[in-house]
Amino acid sequence: MTSLLIRGGTIVRPTGDERADLLVDEGIIREIFIRTTGQQKLLAADQTIDANGQLLFPGFIDCHVHLREPGMEQKGTMETESQSAVCGGVTTVCDMPNTNPPTVSVAALREKIRIAENVAACDIRFFFGVTQSEHLQELQRMYADPSLSSLAGRCCGVKLYIDHSTGNQKAAQGVAEEAFRVCADTRLPLVAHCEDPVLNARAAKLNTRDDISAHSQIRAPESEQRAIVTAVELAKRFGTHLHVAHLSTRRGLELVGQAKKDGLAITCEVAPHHLFLSTEDYATLGALGKMNPPLRTPEHSEALWEGVENGTVDCMASDHAPHTLEEKQVLPALTAPSGVPGVETMIPLLLTVAAGRWPHPRPRPFQPKLKYADIRRLCFDNPNRIFSLRQTMIEQGTAANLVLVHPGEEWEIHGAELHSKCGWTPYEGWRVTGRATVVGRW
Ligand SMILES: [Zn+2]
Repeated sequence: MTSLLIRGGTIVRPTGDERADLLVDEGIIREIFIRTTGQQKLLAADQTIDANGQLLFPGFIDCHVHLREPGMEQKGTMETESQSAVCGGVTTVCDMPNTNPPTVSVAALREKIRIAENVAACDIRFFFGVTQSEHLQELQRMYADPSLSSLAGRCCGVKLYIDHSTGNQKAAQGVAEEAFRVCADTRLPLVAHCEDPVLNARAAKLNTRDDISAHSQIRAPESEQRAIVTAVELAKRFGTHLHVAHLSTRRGLELVGQAKKDGLAITCEVAPHHLFLSTEDYATLGALGKMNPPLRTPEHSEALWEGVENGTVDCMASDHAPHTLEEKQVLPALTAPSGVPGVETMIPLLLTVAAGRWPHPRPRPFQPKLKYADIRRLCFDNPNRIFSLRQTMIEQGTAANLVLVHPGEEWEIHGAELHSKCGWTPYEGWRVTGRATVVGRW
């Protein structure tokens, strides 16, 4: 392996930016020379990258993706979707359990880890799914048996679907409580998909419309809010670390904010599609804008941006969920599967806002604020801590896991040029400012 010198880039840190020269050798950051007065230290390497005017981040983390393998390889594989991640500056992903078979047993987790061994570019971690008591017994067995510790080391938490989504993963009654208790005992974060099944079922029954925007009415904001109330109560009762997945409503955000003020171990993530898209986009997207929880009205997006700004939102996670275009274009549109790809576009969309621009072709009535350091917090520091991923942070002597960002590069998003197997994007034709290239993960 050759040595690499990255000269003059700006390392984005929570404590402030630092302009530096980085020497990487044998996959290890050997030297970081901070340029305080603009002077250079003469470092030599086999290969040199001139990073003047560019930003250096640790490889970004996307803590919510669906890689679709095994069982749904027509939508995506670990190989194709990891490639998509890396091309978007993401070098660590946390894969959800609703594959076929679902990741609800030690054997299923072992099989996923085996497939992931062939994917070098991206570090894949796995959530353990729970829909029945037996799954919790499997999880406890894995954490109790020292011979299974290497498997447990790849498990980043438990995913609990409070309502069913793709893969029919609705948790059986009573199992939810048990899951909160077991997660508290094993000190694993419990990631909850918060939508209330009873409210959704009732609304679906009453629905008489067949246009795609009815999806947002059937899965109304109240459904998410009620589920969050339930989840927070359970977390409080058992002392569980609750992580609310893809938070999408103003009230939901307030509930999480209040729980944090009350001192509970509660964190949350927001998905780019809930920040950049709204119910107004159904007209152009059709079923390509169908996901769970659904698109909301713009006032909810505005609230989520406020949550990003004031720190109530801990993580940005794409909920990357590819489906083939054929699957998405069935009629009636309401029967199309829920989920959109997003792992490759998340960082560019955020970089665009950090550059002071808005990527959506339709202007916004409000101007969201985001700094490059916020992107690091949302897409590296917080998910790294919350899910105990132990990724290194651009320090001397640590493994190189680096992303170089060209903050001023303008380009257009086209599904055909992205690397997900599905070949489409809800952000088709959007102009973005900022591109992330992975320098390396060794
Ligand atoms: Zn998901």
